[in-house]
Amino acid sequence: MAKHLTVVPERCSGCRLCELACAIHHFGVNNPKKSAIRVMVAFPHPVIRMPIVCRQCARPKCRENCPENAIARNNGLVSIDSEKCIACGQCVITCPFGAIFVHDDVPLPFKCDLCGGDPECVKVCPKQAILYQPEHMAGQAHRMSSMLRYAHMKEVTYVEEGEQKKLRYAEIGKPEA
Ligand code: SF4
Ligand code: SF4
Repeated sequence: MAKHLTVVPERCSGCRLCELACAIHHFGVNNPKKSAIRVMVAFPHPVIRMPIVCRQCARPKCRENCPENAIARNNGLVSIDSEKCIACGQCVITCPFGAIFVHDDVPLPFKCDLCGGDPECVKVCPKQAILYQPEHMAGQAHRMSSMLRYAHMKEVTYVEEGEQKKLRYAEIGKPEA
């Protein structure tokens, strides 16, 4: 069964361990610039931390625009054929998510290969901000966090026996004061 990486930005602490784990696994170096996942951080308040990684698109833009037909998708994995790739960088600028990377030391663009089915970034993330889930679970983490956000913030006002009352969803189930 095909599995996907899902990122939950709300959980990310910005520690960037995922970048290091990726670079060490693929290049044997402790250098986040050689990672196929990148944690983007925007200030000021509220700080946004967004790990960016390839979505292994079913219709990959990177493949559509490769002039050498060097990009293929097999069993849910989009990969670059090193024999065909001419390193023109077209895929890098075409990916809508910025999920293909280049580095001076690396002759060809590189991207997430799901570590052969056992992604290192998922294993090291202390916050479970990156999940590796079956395809049918795609979006579930975001559905869950939206629901929790709503439940924590929402306050309803209602009238009971002529009396106006307020209830926060987070308090449902607690005994009334
Ligand atoms: S390891 Fe997890 S928590 Fe740390 S930066 Fe990466 S995604 Fe965020
Ligand atoms: S590199 Fe970008 S366009 Fe290509 S499959 Fe990954 S996310 Fe999609």
